[in-house]
Amino acid sequence: MSDVRTLLAAARQRLGCEDAVWESELLLSAVLGRPRSWLHAHPEAVPSAAQATQFEDWLLRRAMGEPVAYLLGRRGFWTFELDVGPGCLIPRPETELLLEEALARMPVDAAIEVADLGTGSGAVAVALAQERPLARVLASDISAEALALARTNVRRLGLEARVRCVQGDWYTATAGACFHLVVSNPPYLGETDPHLAQGDLRFEPRQALVSGADGLEALRTLIAGAPGHLHAGGWLLLEHGADQGHAVCELMVRNGFTEVETMRDLQALERVTAGQWERSAAHNE
Ligand code: GLN
Repeated sequence: MSDVRTLLAAARQRLGCEDAVWESELLLSAVLGRPRSWLHAHPEAVPSAAQATQFEDWLLRRAMGEPVAYLLGRRGFWTFELDVGPGCLIPRPETELLLEEALARMPVDAAIEVADLGTGSGAVAVALAQERPLARVLASDISAEALALARTNVRRLGLEARVRCVQGDWYTATAGACFHLVVSNPPYLGETDPHLAQGDLRFEPRQALVSGADGLEALRTLIAGAPGHLHAGGWLLLEHGADQGHAVCELMVRNGFTEVETMRDLQALERVTAGQWERSAAHNE
């Protein structure tokens, strides 16, 4: 029987990828039900045969490309862990920019109504509801599988009183309601984007990644439909590809939005564009 040190050394070699050390530790600590620090404190511990077999199975699948997040069924995002699975996009760190920009437009003491369209695992909806205790969030997705994961996350984090999960395509899920904020991390890759053949994306739902030939189909729908679903002074906030900032700005301006601005993520890539609906009308109220 191998001890922790030996298992990890073999796993690192087996995976051979850039994150091999981190991934091996993450998988073994999940198998053992211990924090990663425990592995370092107990290199001589010997996992049971069942645990070693489970670790072996995960390593095999990981070596074939399966995302770590799907193997674990969990992914850390913002300040919490989310249940994830092959039915939803794996939450990404760059989406935290969408959250920060949304939170900057959500006063702590206001009963803000928010729509998170195409919520996937519920990452954005959950984070906004958690950070703003008076906010109410509609979280929608066309995929029943994704919505089931979102519902699980909303329930596990105790937010079911303020986050409503509804199945439906973009604005059809809103049933005509109006919001102070509409946010979305929609699919935005083009059909032939080479990233689709790389890394985790090979295993993620195509529906959550691809949107027409130029990747802009969902973004166009979200922008065109927003005026009918935003209160005066409300904001539309959209995540998009690093090369789509200009196109998204243009679409927002053409659809009557003001204060249109594109923000860069931690890698300095254009990632989120915001636009306000009828600001002057709001000021005159
Ligand atoms: N940011 C993702 C990627 O390029 C795409 C996710 C999306 O389409 N919303 O990996």
